[in-house]
Amino acid sequence: MRVLLVGSGGREHALAACLSRSPELEALFIAPGNPGMAELGTLVPLAADDVTTLVRFAKEQKIDLVVPGPEAPLVAGLADLCAEAGIACAGPSQAASALEGSKSFTKDVADAAGIPTARWERFEEAEPALAFVRRRGAPIVIKADGLAAGKGVIVAQTLEEAEAAIIDILTDRSFGAAGASIVIEECLVGEEVSLFAFCSDDEAVLIGAARDHKRIGEGDTGPNTGGMGAISPPPRFDRAAQEKALDIMVRPMLAEMVRRGTPFRGIIFAGLMLTAEGPKLIEYNVRFGDPEAQALLIRLDSDLLPVLKALAEGRLDDAAIRFTDDASISVVLAARGYPCTPVKGGAIRGIERADAVPGVQVFQAGTAMQDGKLVASGGRVLTVCATGATPEEARARAYQGVAAIDWDDGIYRRDIGV
Ligand code: AMP
Repeated sequence: MRVLLVGSGGREHALAACLSRSPELEALFIAPGNPGMAELGTLVPLAADDVTTLVRFAKEQKIDLVVPGPEAPLVAGLADLCAEAGIACAGPSQAASALEGSKSFTKDVADAAGIPTARWERFEEAEPALAFVRRRGAPIVIKADGLAAGKGVIVAQTLEEAEAAIIDILTDRSFGAAGASIVIEECLVGEEVSLFAFCSDDEAVLIGAARDHKRIGEGDTGPNTGGMGAISPPPRFDRAAQEKALDIMVRPMLAEMVRRGTPFRGIIFAGLMLTAEGPKLIEYNVRFGDPEAQALLIRLDSDLLPVLKALAEGRLDDAAIRFTDDASISVVLAARGYPCTPVKGGAIRGIERADAVPGVQVFQAGTAMQDGKLVASGGRVLTVCATGATPEEARARAYQGVAAIDWDDGIYRRDIGV
């Protein structure tokens, strides 16, 4: 098979590593990819959200399967253009991608499908939104309705923070069109888990689960980030609980999407809060998580390529996937200043030393080659992953890998998976 993988982060590096091992792979193209992926496939300098050019390239190269990593190309209609061109794509249509592209759409679907989720209201004007939070009080959650690169959610601990977030999004338009409306939600308390499943129409097959650490600081402090690390499988959320959550959180949503005439076919990522009243839906994403994908995929015990092809063709019976019984941890190394203003340009050494630690694999994200040297070029720069017979062993190995990396500007959390 000739495959085009779309994206450039640690998640896509992990996907590329799995796809490149497949005996069914004839050629792997990665658009745009990163330096770490160069040895796994051919890097193509096309932007991940330039869907028209991506599909033109896929036609020229006689691609059999397009594998989208991030959400942006899906929300921009990559799967629809692939369908028109007769190319299989392992991701949902633009209409079904609204599950990630619009928070209020998701809340509407969840309510219609009877899925437990935080109580919510949608606002387009600042004044009624401010009056609402003053009535409700803090803590309360303010969300830009549209896609805001993981930065549009403010879990406000005080009324002042909530008011500032409303003015920032609705009055100052700091997220542009993505903040033309906001969703204000009840603040859920509990442990967060990410559940992944392959879906087609009203069927779902469990992939697995991971626990992500969203905040920048140890002990879950500071601002939210794209994710600072993950553990898989997550503690206190076993296979039986995952299957049950699939019944409550995913299958009713799939039926509702079919009823609306916009069936979902692809990977669903349900973000759940395990509250005292049981699991509640925080959000859906329409693709793998990053860094959850890295933690999941290094435990993979199946050939991913035929599985993704079967998913793209709606053959869920052939999309079953197996993982080893190992535990895994992924630790993100971000650049000092992340998530606001990451320091760029610092030299990174020692990836080979980290890769040599038993069970460790390093995936690259915000990296670039400059004068023949690997340097930091983004916020989240590396994900150091490790497997182990126990979570403790995986954690010890992952941090041994982190210690082998020589990069002055790197910051990371020491409590991933704890
Ligand atoms: P989202 O983009 O909706 O996943 O939100 C990003 C993060 O904000 C989530 O992973 C949670 O950590 C947090 N969050 C979102 N909604 C809520 C909520 N209703 N209660 C508490 N935390 C939330």
